[in-house]
Amino acid sequence: MKAPSLNTQILLGAFFGVLVGLCFQSLGAQTSLVKGGLYASGLVGTLFIDLLKMILIPLVFCSIAVGIANLRQHSQMHRVWVTTLLFFAFTMAIAVALGLFASNYFEAGKGLEIAMFADSMQNFQAQQLPLPEFFAQFLHGLFMNPFAALATGNVLAVVIFALILGIALVMGGERYKNILGLLQEGLELTMRIVGWVMVLAPFGIAALLIKLVATQDTAMLGTMAKFMTVVVGTTLLHGVVILPLLLYLITGKTPLWFWRGAREALITAFATSSSSATLPVTMRCATQHLHVKPEIAGFVVPLGATMNMDGTALYEAAAALFIANLVGIDLNLTQQLIVFFTAMIAAVGAPGIPSAGMVTMVMVLQSVGLPAEAIAILLPIDRLLDTIRTTVNVQGDMVGSLVVQKLVNR
Ligand code: ASP
Repeated sequence: MKAPSLNTQILLGAFFGVLVGLCFQSLGAQTSLVKGGLYASGLVGTLFIDLLKMILIPLVFCSIAVGIANLRQHSQMHRVWVTTLLFFAFTMAIAVALGLFASNYFEAGKGLEIAMFADSMQNFQAQQLPLPEFFAQFLHGLFMNPFAALATGNVLAVVIFALILGIALVMGGERYKNILGLLQEGLELTMRIVGWVMVLAPFGIAALLIKLVATQDTAMLGTMAKFMTVVVGTTLLHGVVILPLLLYLITGKTPLWFWRGAREALITAFATSSSSATLPVTMRCATQHLHVKPEIAGFVVPLGATMNMDGTALYEAAAALFIANLVGIDLNLTQQLIVFFTAMIAAVGAPGIPSAGMVTMVMVLQSVGLPAEAIAILLPIDRLLDTIRTTVNVQGDMVGSLVVQKLVNR
């Protein structure tokens, strides 16, 4: 009998993980079977993420430098830049608008007593992150000694250095063709290694989901049910209707076609809650399954993984309104506009790691004078919501690469 394809194995792994996680949860954390099971899934899940992270930095470095250098040869660089940034901004703006609209309509949080959360808020010290400071920090983090950035795995700084190197390679032309060739071979090699890591993906994904589901704090879920439903519902609306519609209108590709090519990355994003850790898989899906040219995918996808976060932007806006309702403040139109823009900035600034949106959320709250400590209310449910918003974040990057490819080749 033929073994099922990797895609099917990954899907099975995800189902298996959720099922076993639910069983573990009903058995209780103290059972020795559950303890052993959680230990084993911790090991396998971490191994999978570590392997993805191992290849992440060399991949980002080579793919952006090579992507830029090859784009210029086709004299398309300017159009790709502009189209990519416009697409990112446009889809994030739609996401935030959806989040604000749904929160205003459903008014999640009204009627809940803030006193219910007093304990968790008391024990929580919010990190101060006003907008100007956030911006200064963000700008400061862009430029770093490339060796330090590579060594510490700072994705954004590596992206920026690779961009500059790519431009220098283009300017230098023929003179540096050996270095460009070397980077090109480096990119092929890293993609080959990604292929090997993917063999482990079904197990890694199952393990991560077992741990996530089994260790959920279910007591909190009831209280927050309405807010969670609004966030999950709108995020799904963005991922299942808006993005596929844009893709179809611009490129003519159907949602089913997209799902078939993108599911490895989408499921990995769901299980890891990290756009950065998923990036090697996203690159593989974009270039090998969705047939995006490497020079376009090599540029759009890594940039998107650090900057383009539709799910996060939507969440930040919805959560700000939720907190406002909890503390009994009605945000007027101007304040909601401030939330609109800060949510977008916060999403761009959030690194692609689990719960990163929670950190930049502080800035959104403070921009309209809401208590930053209220983050404590959101933390218990964050890991659960992070799965879906990360999936939509990664989806946006793949849709973006297809759209950009279509628009620049017109
Ligand atoms: N986990 C998200 C990501 O990696 C970021 C966030 O926390 O919203 O895309």
